[in-house]
Order: sequence, then C-alpha cells, then structure tokens
Amino acid sequence: MPPTELASFSAAGERDVELVTLSEIVRTCRVLHAANLTTTVWGFVAARHASGGGIWVTRDNVGFDEVNIDDIVLVSSKGELVQGDFEPDSEQALAIEVMASRRDVQAVIHVHSLHATAFAATNRALHAISHEGCHLVPPDIARSRFLDDPGTWTDEGRELVSSLGQRNSILMPGHGLITVAETLGEAAALAVYLEKACRLQLLAGMDFYAIPDAEVMKKRSGQLSRPRLSWEYLQRVTPLTREESV
Ligand SMILES: [Zn+2]
Repeated sequence: MPPTELASFSAAGERDVELVTLSEIVRTCRVLHAANLTTTVWGFVAARHASGGGIWVTRDNVGFDEVNIDDIVLVSSKGELVQGDFEPDSEQALAIEVMASRRDVQAVIHVHSLHATAFAATNRALHAISHEGCHLVPPDIARSRFLDDPGTWTDEGRELVSSLGQRNSILMPGHGLITVAETLGEAAALAVYLEKACRLQLLAGMDFYAIPDAEVMKKRSGQLSRPRLSWEYLQRVTPLTREESV
C-alpha cells in the first residue's frame, strides 16, 4: 500500500503553531538524552516542515547527544530525502503517517526508553498515580500490538497510527514509546512524563492509589502542571553545548 498522502501539510486554516527550527530539534534531542530516555542511536525526533511539504527528522544511526543541525534531514511525504547528506531515521515513516492523519500534530518523538518499554510489555492499564500520569490517562494509554517492522510503508505502521487515534502518546510493546504534540517541547515533556508514569507504576506494583478522574482533569488543566512549563525547565537544566556552538 502506498504511503498516506500529506495533503493536510499545507492545508489552509491550520492552527497557528510555533515555527519549528532545526535548532529546536537539536535542543529536543539534548533534553531527551539528559532525561535518560535514549538508548544508543535508536529513536527519532521529527517536526513538520513550515511549508507543509514534508518533515524534518533526525538521521539514521546517530545518538541524541551527538545530533547537530547537519544530522537533521528533510524528507518528502513519501519518505524520500529532499535535503541533507544522510539517510533519515529508518522509522521515519511513523512520523510521516502520524502527521498525515493528525493535522494538529507538528512534532513526533520516538524513543526506546527503559521503563516505558518494560511497562509496554505488560497487559496492565496505565493509571494516573502522579502528576505526570494526569497528562496521559484517562482514557487508558494507547498500546499497539507487537509490530515486526513498523517503520516501513506497511499496514502495520498505519495500524499503529490508528491505535494512537487522537491521543498524545502510545506504548509499543517490544519497542518503546511515541508522543505527539503541537510543539516539540510539549512532545518532549510528554515523553518524560510517560517514561516516569510507567516507572512509577512498575514501582508501585499491583496495589496502588490512583488519582480520581475528577482530580486528574483539574490537574490536567492547571497552569502549573502544563507540559510547556516542564519543557522550559528541562531546557534550563540541560547542557546544550553542541547546539549553541552552531
Ligand atoms: Zn524504534
């Protein structure tokens, strides 16, 4: 089956979101690495191109701690290299599929973080047992089935996008996590939240107190707990030597 068309990339009336720059992608990579969400060279950070003609995505086989602007490539809606000297991440199709189906999504993050991968391997529902969880559930976290090769143009990749639906994140058994958002910063904060929420529930075991739904909704809408504020903090405490030297 051919890739989903990205006609929505340049659709009129799209929400006004912050412009994504290459330096923001580098900064996002640094933050995710500093937060211990990365595993060697696996995962990607992707953002919709401002013109709507494709996506910026980190290249294949590079660590988030070593990504620089030259390591970010532009690919078309069919996954073809448009700009850059390297091959895009081998799972870039996931980002393209998500952005093709979700006009509200400007950024997609995929990492193979430890606790999210461990929790994804269970059959347990994710509950809000901390502030972080309140931004993710309810409804329960989306979870794909095990996918052999979700990064290629296959029905499996599209199935994962279908499982994500309108949610902001999904767990991938045997693999890792994906978060999506209107900004890179929000997607990064959600990835940090999801990793911690999974870790907390693994630590809590089978008997725990879940925050009542009504309280979850209050926390989710509260100013102080918004992912944007977490993102601003994460930037302040993350070394950005490579990015700042560009
Ligand atoms: Zn992956």
